[in-house]
Amino acid sequence: MVLWQDELSSGLRQARALAADPSGPWLSLPQEDQPAVAAARERFPFLVPTGYADLIDWNDPGDPLRQLLMPTAAEDSPDGSLDTSGEALSTIVPGLQHKYEQTAVFLLTEACAGHCRYCFRRRLMSRDVMTKETIEDLEAAVAYVAAHPEVENVLLSGGDPMICSTRRLERLFEALSPIRHLWQLRISTKLPAFLPSRFSTDPALLALLHRLRTRFQIVVQCHFDHPREITPAAERAIEALRESGCLLTAQIPLMKGVNADVDVLTELFKRLHRLGVLPQYLFHPRPVQHATHFQLPLLDGLALVEAVRRRCNGPVKRFRYILTHADGKLELVGQLPGRDGELVCRWHQVRRGITREGLHLAQITPETTWLQQ
Ligand code: SF4
Repeated sequence: MVLWQDELSSGLRQARALAADPSGPWLSLPQEDQPAVAAARERFPFLVPTGYADLIDWNDPGDPLRQLLMPTAAEDSPDGSLDTSGEALSTIVPGLQHKYEQTAVFLLTEACAGHCRYCFRRRLMSRDVMTKETIEDLEAAVAYVAAHPEVENVLLSGGDPMICSTRRLERLFEALSPIRHLWQLRISTKLPAFLPSRFSTDPALLALLHRLRTRFQIVVQCHFDHPREITPAAERAIEALRESGCLLTAQIPLMKGVNADVDVLTELFKRLHRLGVLPQYLFHPRPVQHATHFQLPLLDGLALVEAVRRRCNGPVKRFRYILTHADGKLELVGQLPGRDGELVCRWHQVRRGITREGLHLAQITPETTWLQQ
């Protein structure tokens, strides 16, 4: 049995080997693209998980999973922002964010098993950005949560928090357990897709989650991008998490070139639902610096969502189509007949200190890809 830690480190070796392979995807890039691609890789390292690499057609530049992981010349564009959802505004101490009243976010690590080129937190892993935003002082973060009775849940994020050792996660859970007003822990992870062995080769993790279920509701927010990621190993990971007593939800980033397709998204939501991963959010692509080529117009996204919903039954179509704004989460609802220049949105969550609620009418054109404040 290959342990998850070994698989994780072999991903690094594999990324280097792929880059050096004369018949591989790098050296077969068009000559004119090579400097831009090399610069993109220098900024935000190429990292591909071991098993996941086998899912990719490296010879097809249009392959969705290749687009997800492989730098392209399009990353040369400096458009966009490295903090599209205003995380700096909600940072209390490094690694602790408090944007929405009920939720404290802990950024546990900047490490991931693979680097998604569209990542909205790519600043954490980028070589050209000097930032240290992960938790250094766990005691201070826990004390903050203890002093804020409105905080009902802690969301573990990163990077990928499931990369942390089981022992580290256990220490964190032990520190949070005495806080009576906390009843829920949420964990955002892409490891069921990127590194399913995390959940099949570490019985201590599953035992820990199983033990914790009597103290917290544990929600594992699974990040999947494409139905091809739902391999037998990913299915076993999902099953193991469910058997440990976790509630599983699906958070899907919508990305041009990866999954902005009605067949792909429909299959993704349906297959995940069937495995017990309940639909939560579909995120509209953000204007992330060096990743704006993944964006698409809001109206295209809405048309796509409507088409997906038409094909899904009630439980599967429960996901919300969300634009995560610096001021909060806006649910993108649709357009009223005869009001082409307007988009109806609903404030789903708002940043603390902001008084916005209910419906919001945004002025848009067919080309609008994002809503400014
Ligand atoms: S797994 Fe998540 S945090 Fe890591 S690179 Fe991908 S999107 Fe970013």
